Amino acid sequence: MPLIVQKYGGSSVADAKKIKSVARRVKRTAKKGNKVVVVVSAPGDTTDRLLSSAYEITAHPSEREVDMLLSTGEQISISLLTMALHSLGCPAISFTGSQARILTDTAYTKARILSVDAERIKDELRKGKVVVVAGFQGISQEEDITTLGRGGSDTTAVALAASLKAASCEIYTDVEGIYTADPRVVPSAKRLKKISYDAMLELSSLGAKVMQLRSVELAKRYNVRLHIRSSFSNKEGTMITEKGLEGLEAPEVSGVTYDRDQAKITIQSVPDRPGIASTIFSEIAERNINVDMIIQSASLKGLTDVSFTIAEVDLQKALPAIKEVAKRIKAKGVAASKGVAKVSIVGVGMRSHPGVAARMFSCLAKERINIGMISTSEIKISCAIEEKDVQKAVKSLHREFGLGQK
Ligand code: ADP
Ligand code: ASP
Ligand code: MG
Repeated sequence: MPLIVQKYGGSSVADAKKIKSVARRVKRTAKKGNKVVVVVSAPGDTTDRLLSSAYEITAHPSEREVDMLLSTGEQISISLLTMALHSLGCPAISFTGSQARILTDTAYTKARILSVDAERIKDELRKGKVVVVAGFQGISQEEDITTLGRGGSDTTAVALAASLKAASCEIYTDVEGIYTADPRVVPSAKRLKKISYDAMLELSSLGAKVMQLRSVELAKRYNVRLHIRSSFSNKEGTMITEKGLEGLEAPEVSGVTYDRDQAKITIQSVPDRPGIASTIFSEIAERNINVDMIIQSASLKGLTDVSFTIAEVDLQKALPAIKEVAKRIKAKGVAASKGVAKVSIVGVGMRSHPGVAARMFSCLAKERINIGMISTSEIKISCAIEEKDVQKAVKSLHREFGLGQK
């Protein structure tokens, strides 16, 4: 009997009507003769609301307690969905991350899955039940509740699909698949029928929140075929597999992404000598903070400026460490600014099409958008811009590279 993992995001279980509709889809899948494991997120904006309530208590909540709090959101969805399945006469049981034995490290708020012991899930499947698992959460070796980072239910779904050797992993969300740009920002964006793991990794890492980056990494590593589709229709969606539309068919640019909420930090007048970059960035890495774009100005009288971007949420945690290291290396000072965003173009076809970068820069220039930093790889080009320009930048790049519906 084939096993299918289905994941439903927050908007798909936002209210009773939607939960009942998810239950009907799950029951239909089970009736066709499949074993079904369902992963759900917290209803609607529950996770955001829980997080704000923590900040109403204190500006510096303990990360262990944040995870304790956030994990309650998913518990609401698993119990309600299981009740909805029961009322349709479909045998089902709900499990928290801990009951599903999803073992993680102790990096609260961004824990990594170490292993999944799926025996208990398999037992219930053998009894003919649908198993409903709380997404986004696990349990550490010390038996503390952990969460997997925002959007982490995607990762729960892929981890379960990999360890249960599922025939397919279906991700149900509020759009009809993966598009050439966020369809909420660019209404003319086109749905992709297929996309490769590699191109999807780029889209996710550059801000397309539709799939959590780690879920795509995991899917690639364990060769889990992902099918992204809408909870609200029966349209075909997008397949994420080893091969997307590559080779001759590959367009030079296949997507445009953006990431708001970045911060830029500049360490001013840094003595220009070997080992300095390593000192600065090791210090930041030790605090588990991701650095994104980096530029170093030309050396003037033995001094340079080093600028880089990080996620705005990490700024509070990063600044004291950066100020400390700046002092130690005898830099002049540290300046930080918020309201920075990153806009990127992505495409495996870029490898064989020269001139793409120049076209991107002149498109932004025509819109009078200033570029603060640039970073490139074989298959993407990113520019740091002001946050207020994001919408304009994404729309004009989408048009420039001919990505819209004809
Ligand atoms: P869920 O709650 O189902 O996990 P998310 O909000 O995490 O849903 O992800 C879906 C959202 O991702 C969409 O509503 C859309 O606005 C956004 N998105 C950003 N980039 C893309 C893209 N390239 N294709 C599809 N959706 C995208
Ligand atoms: N509820 C969590 C979040 O909002 C996990 C998820 O939706 O995937 O980030
Ligand atoms: Mg999500």
